[in-house]
Amino acid sequence: MSSPSSIAPSAQAYDAVVIGAGPNGLVAANHLVSKGWSVLVLEAQPTVGGAVRSESDVHPGFIHDTFSAFYPLAAASESIEGLGLDRHGLTWSHAPAVLGHPRLDGSWALLHRDRNVTAELMEQQAVGDGEAWLELCAEWDRIGPHLVRALVTPFPPVRPGLAMLARLRSVGGLGFVRTLLSPAIELGRSRFTGDAPRLLLAGNAGHADIPLDAAGSGLMGLLMTMLGQTVGFPVPRGGAGELSESLARRIRALGGDIRCDSEVVRIEVVDGRAVAVHTVEGRRFAAAKAIIADVVAPHLYGGLVPEEDVPPRTRSGMRRFEMDPSTVKVDWALSGPVPWAGRPPHDPGTVHVADSVEQMAEALSQVAAGAIPAEPFMLVGQMTTADATRSPEGTESMWAYTHVPQRTSRDAGEGGVRGTWDVDDCQRFADRMQERIEKLAPGFSSTILARRVLGPRELEDRDANLIGGAINGGTSQLHQELVLRPVPGLGRAETGIRGLYLGSASAHPGGGVHGAPGMNAARAALLHARLRPWSRS
Ligand SMILES: Cc1cc2nc3c(=O)[nH]c(=O)nc-3n(C[C@H](O)[C@H](O)[C@H](O)COP(=O)(O)OP(=O)(O)OC[C@H]3O[C@@H](n4cnc5c(N)ncnc54)[C@H](O)[C@@H]3O)c2cc1C
Repeated sequence: MSSPSSIAPSAQAYDAVVIGAGPNGLVAANHLVSKGWSVLVLEAQPTVGGAVRSESDVHPGFIHDTFSAFYPLAAASESIEGLGLDRHGLTWSHAPAVLGHPRLDGSWALLHRDRNVTAELMEQQAVGDGEAWLELCAEWDRIGPHLVRALVTPFPPVRPGLAMLARLRSVGGLGFVRTLLSPAIELGRSRFTGDAPRLLLAGNAGHADIPLDAAGSGLMGLLMTMLGQTVGFPVPRGGAGELSESLARRIRALGGDIRCDSEVVRIEVVDGRAVAVHTVEGRRFAAAKAIIADVVAPHLYGGLVPEEDVPPRTRSGMRRFEMDPSTVKVDWALSGPVPWAGRPPHDPGTVHVADSVEQMAEALSQVAAGAIPAEPFMLVGQMTTADATRSPEGTESMWAYTHVPQRTSRDAGEGGVRGTWDVDDCQRFADRMQERIEKLAPGFSSTILARRVLGPRELEDRDANLIGGAINGGTSQLHQELVLRPVPGLGRAETGIRGLYLGSASAHPGGGVHGAPGMNAARAALLHARLRPWSRS
């Protein structure tokens, strides 16, 4: 524990200091300034946003999102939507279709924001699937919003949980629970005859690192697909960074302070209470009521908080903390639209690339087994299709990312990728990714004006929370979710150190841009300050 004599004088005291200006940190700060607290946000990078940023240096006239790009979770999130960001410059934009999955024969599985259009397209491919789709949508209408609320509320989610239970009978009772618990690969098979719904559900489950044949993957697939169906996969007009900038503008408008290029290197703990943070330049900022860490758990408990101040249960739990897989992301500036072998009836913003559900499952299990996938399952963004401001008319700003192991045992493909992720490895693997698109869109390579490859190291350099290129602040598999996140017994923002709250994707409910960990941390801080103002806990 830091001794009071080692405490440097504070430049200024705030009610709360938020470490990190990712979406969770910015949501936490927004909530606290709304409640009248004085708040300082300290961000290590030169700009706010964490993994929600954009840049214009890939090719002149093109905007590329550096990391995340599509925000169904934000659009469905009360934590973000409730902030009224439209008054701070945020405008959402949508592609003609939400999501598409091209098949090798040139046909597409498509999710359109109008459920009747989606159903009609499915019906054309397999009789009966249109009706089955509308039935699934109707079930979601009854229970989905309560399920989403239960998922983002700190554990135990009493009120939304009860609301969900009350509606369970109307969607088939335990039969629906079984649907939720089914592996993604099963979910599609049990309700549809054609492969379009299966491809869409499994592809959406593949956004998390849960194996497609494991429980939990079905829930993820259903959640993302139904969000796509109900709120779409919107993108901020002008680039992902506009979402972060609007969050920052709101904080500043309400009197909050944000300082970039200010890495926090230590949290000062006195008598079991977090009282101040120290930056890399040696500045100390005191926090009278709370410190909220939008910091990945291994960094928070593995250095920022002095080892002797980490509660023993957290210290031992963190030994088993598991990161999610690594990532390679490629950005392209294209001279024209992607020359897909078959033009989809409606152009999708998000595209999934896999020859089949089985190939998708194989790629994901290769990654889980430490192998670099031979035929990686890829998420692709056609950003100009989703927002015309991203590049000059007639061109396309595009990206694709896929997962690779944190520790590589072998290359399941033939390119001799070693998993060292130096420039050579990254370029070779990017070629493999590009070939996947070329196969579905002959002539794709000839449309490329510029290409940028961000391997695990480049991702982490731009955002220290992305350890080894992991995008979700820790695995999303069931063994590290709910009360088990980040370590068994927590499941809430409290850290066991008074006044310190974990508000990053490492906290329940995990990764994605929904702001729930940040909001949960801010609410916990407010509650404690209200309950025990005299003890400053
Ligand atoms: C390539 C990629 C694609 C993704 N795609 C999507 C998508 O399309 N849709 C979606 O919903 N989600 C997506 N995600 C996931 C989503 O972006 C993250 O889950 C989300 O950004 C997590 O938010 P956060 O605030 O917890 O952390 P982050 O966004 O990682 O922000 C943390 C911030 O804290 C700062 N920080 C860390 N340590 C310190 C310190 N010691 N001092 C000061 N500052 C510090 C970092 O610099 C960073 O700015 C994607 C992520 C990646 C990487």
